[in-house]
Amino acid sequence: MIAKVIVDVPSRATDRPFDYAIPEDLIGWVEVGSRVGVPFGGRVLQGFVIGIAEFADIEVKKLKPIAELLDHLPPLSSDLVELAQWISDKYCCTLTAALQAMIPSALKGKADSIVSLTEDSEVDGLNVVQDDSEPWLAFIRQNGGSVRLAALQERFPGSAASIKAAIQRGTLSEQVKIRDRLAVRKVLTVFPPEDKQAASEALSASSTRAAKQQEVLRYMLANPVPITLAALALELSTTSGTIKAAAEKGWVAIRETEQQRDPYAGRDFKQTEPLHLTEGQQAVYEEIADALDQEISRVFLLHGVTGSGKTEVYLQTIERCLNYERQAIVLVPEIALTPQMVERFKGRFGDAVAVMHSRLSSGERYDEWRKIREGRAEVVVGARSAIFSPFKRIGLIIIDEEHESSYKQEESPKYHARDVAVWRARQHGAAVVLGSATPSLETYAAASAARASEPQSNANAAVKRGAALLPMPTRVGGRPLPKVHLVDMRDELKGGNRSMFSRQLHEALLQRLERGEQSVLLLNRRGYSTFVMCRSCGYTAQCPHCDISLTYHQKSKALRCHYCGHAEQAPSACPSCESEHIRFFGTGTQRVEEELAKLFPGIRVIRMDVDTTTEKGSHEKWLTMFGERQADVLLGTQMVAKGLDFPYVTLVGVIAADTSLHLPDFRAAEKTFQLLTQVAGRAGRHELPGEVIVQTYNPEHYAVITAKHHDYDAFVQEELKHRRFMSYPPYCRLILVTLSHEQLALLITTGEKLASSLRELAQASGVGSSDDGDGSRFIDILGPVASPIPRMKDRYRFQCMIKYRGNVGAIDILKQAVAHLSGPQGQPPVQLSIDVDPQMIL
Ligand code: ADP
Ligand code: ZN
Ligand code: ZN
Repeated sequence: MIAKVIVDVPSRATDRPFDYAIPEDLIGWVEVGSRVGVPFGGRVLQGFVIGIAEFADIEVKKLKPIAELLDHLPPLSSDLVELAQWISDKYCCTLTAALQAMIPSALKGKADSIVSLTEDSEVDGLNVVQDDSEPWLAFIRQNGGSVRLAALQERFPGSAASIKAAIQRGTLSEQVKIRDRLAVRKVLTVFPPEDKQAASEALSASSTRAAKQQEVLRYMLANPVPITLAALALELSTTSGTIKAAAEKGWVAIRETEQQRDPYAGRDFKQTEPLHLTEGQQAVYEEIADALDQEISRVFLLHGVTGSGKTEVYLQTIERCLNYERQAIVLVPEIALTPQMVERFKGRFGDAVAVMHSRLSSGERYDEWRKIREGRAEVVVGARSAIFSPFKRIGLIIIDEEHESSYKQEESPKYHARDVAVWRARQHGAAVVLGSATPSLETYAAASAARASEPQSNANAAVKRGAALLPMPTRVGGRPLPKVHLVDMRDELKGGNRSMFSRQLHEALLQRLERGEQSVLLLNRRGYSTFVMCRSCGYTAQCPHCDISLTYHQKSKALRCHYCGHAEQAPSACPSCESEHIRFFGTGTQRVEEELAKLFPGIRVIRMDVDTTTEKGSHEKWLTMFGERQADVLLGTQMVAKGLDFPYVTLVGVIAADTSLHLPDFRAAEKTFQLLTQVAGRAGRHELPGEVIVQTYNPEHYAVITAKHHDYDAFVQEELKHRRFMSYPPYCRLILVTLSHEQLALLITTGEKLASSLRELAQASGVGSSDDGDGSRFIDILGPVASPIPRMKDRYRFQCMIKYRGNVGAIDILKQAVAHLSGPQGQPPVQLSIDVDPQMIL
């Protein structure tokens, strides 16, 4: 039997399965998805088995055998292996990268040399060396005859020659093994005696000199449950030595047990009961329940305004899914994975919930992951990568805030969790629920198109054509959406107010302080200091060819377009009103905090931004403090906009709505609308009515106006017009290719070669560009141009963009063009990074 193994080498050239013989004793154990150690280029490397076959494809004299099997339960199921193949095809990444993305970092093993005493050691007389001349020998013996070579090297730096000699003579054997980055945590646990009767008798028969040990036994008889050695020693104010002595007498037993690293250990989650659903929730629930009952793979877009009660729908559909003994995956944006969010799921499903996010230690993440793989968890609540949870029978996948760009991974593999969810759901016959108050245009457009075209005759078509739309347009309990006031900051400046707070926001904050209510202040940090804007008239510099803001480059004092490469001189006065108040816009949270303290003496402010939330648990600490009303204002960046639900928040202020509006990104308006809608949704969620004040230099911009009116549909209609006109997604799809290299000249020639090769191949395919034909099918090649960040880590960066529509084989064209570039080793001369359906153009 042979195994096809993808070896963990980060290179495209070796990214194919290699054949290895399965040793006799591992037949039946090695499966698709197994993690193995294999000899590769003189080393032992970790790899994943992606196939098992009777015979090798090519006749080879002697196939190397698998060196070791690393886990008795394969870390990947066969559907995940298949998924990795799909990801590698769709996102143009290596299979290794795709497989690695699916397992916790603890399992990214490293090779390790282990040296052991052999039988020859005796013959060789090594064992009779009693003096200190070979201290390392005693060390090996003390450690049971085998130690890591690295440990020996570290401990006995002077003995390298004698250790090497012993290995060469064969009196020490060396074996290379893969070691996990992190092991299961083991603790010593004390168990009560099995035979109580005998133990009691032994107790009364024993001498009084063993009083302390007797106390141990007495305690274990009175409390016959396992307890860790450390905890017992603490409880009895005794030493572990005493307890071990009691164990040696056979009174109690001490064994190593596994200890779960539980990130939420010691926290009580109050059990919650299902709420009586509102009419709107009930209708939505029934649609999803119907798909669950029939076990058909369907995708739903739950379009519910903020406060419409989406979470309760999630909880009750999950419950239904669990009743079928199927598991559920819930994805939440990293930033929104707050204790509040976790509490809602743990409160309903208790220990059956595993939690996965990047703020866990890698040990905690490993243990949560094993809880899933070993079937001890039924629900996972996690960030993007939780989509790879190794569940056996998935019934439901929920993606909350589906529009969030963080669902797209920015490094290889550059997958989108939404697409992976749809793929996994199809494999498992599961339902997918995409929830949002502001669905992404791509999702929404696909859902609308699906609705407009023929009725969904079968589930597969529904998946392909887009989600079924489930609207929840009103808040629970008929609460109104908060009133949003726009403040034109140009008028403030005219009125002589140069502060970052308008008079209206100032007044409103004062009022909240007097009433003892709370406020949330959002500083839209995206896009600081990068765009040019006139503070008198609101003018921003736009690219004449792209309808996108130009970016200011401080060094060259030039304005540039990142899409087409257009560049012009930065103006010193506003081209529109000739004011000299034209400058880049920027103010940090720290400055806002200082200004608050100056304007409102004694105000209690919690500032949440990257600086104040790096420490583990700090995020949680701030939110708990705010929830306990220990502060009047929660001030922060994007992280205060998501998912928070505090009853005393009656004011939300947005310091500057526009900072993200003019980013050189075709999604700038969409992002701004989403952010304003989300943050406005934090106000007045409970009894007290809420108010929102948005400060802007662009009160007439449709993203700002429609957000004011909570009018998603109006925003979408307007935005779609722009997208269609400029031919951007959802009217086309994009592939971004970034090339980088230290040598600019080589980079430029390679970039040009790639672009012309792409153009030739596109032309040869006969598809045509967006200029000709009816626009239903096209492929355009843009670039090469310098990347928005033209140099990073001493490497220059250039990019090409492929814009296409319809089934035109764009990825195949790209792969062929890349192959043309590559030398005999199969490696392109510069580093290439491919981003299919990019979220971040910046
Ligand atoms: P969303 O996620 O849609 O913004 P939430 O799920 O946070 O909204 O719900 C908003 C509020 O309404 C929460 O406080 C929640 O407990 C409450 N809620 C949800 N459903 C119901 C219901 N059926 N009956 C009463 N209260 C509900
Ligand atoms: Zn101006
Ligand atoms: Zn341009």
